[in-house]
Amino acid sequence: MKKEDIITLPNPHLRQKSSRVHVITDAIHALIKDMTSASIDWEDSRPHEISAALAAVQIDNLERVVIVRSDFDDKAVRDFTPLINPEIVKFEGNIVSDYEGCLSVSGVYGKVPRYTKIRVKALDTEGNEIRFKAEGFLARVIQHEIDHTNGIVFIDHIRDQHDAFYTLDDKGELQPLSYDEHIAKNHLLWD
Ligand SMILES: [Zn+2]
Repeated sequence: MKKEDIITLPNPHLRQKSSRVHVITDAIHALIKDMTSASIDWEDSRPHEISAALAAVQIDNLERVVIVRSDFDDKAVRDFTPLINPEIVKFEGNIVSDYEGCLSVSGVYGKVPRYTKIRVKALDTEGNEIRFKAEGFLARVIQHEIDHTNGIVFIDHIRDQHDAFYTLDDKGELQPLSYDEHIAKNHLLWD
């Protein structure tokens, strides 16, 4: 799939809950391939950003499947780890705000409060249960993706703050974005 297959706000599907996967069929394996190719195609069009992860809803499939980049620091490593029916079984550490962006929210970054440590349960592509701890940026990314499976977009966490939005300039530096510009970019009306 291509970057054009990634849906963006105000598409209402981004606000819908995804369904649990009951049987891991060939269609799920194909979905994971489509998510990976769409993520990589999007990244290839963005000189300053990496595609850290993607949820199936972002290519308009409402199943609880996410993929997470295996190496956030090296754009040459293009492997993703699929997580099926991912859930957070425990929140730990502190709550810290940091910048997030989203392939489904065009041109906007914002500071989102997240837990610094989580414990995660999911299925792998063979249907085996996996459990692991995540912290730092990985914990943030997984919280962002699990939000997608629940119909939540990162800006929903900061909707009441008028000075919390940023955009990337041509050099890849974050610049403050006015609330009105943010609304205009994403055609949003929140009430
Ligand atoms: Zn996202």
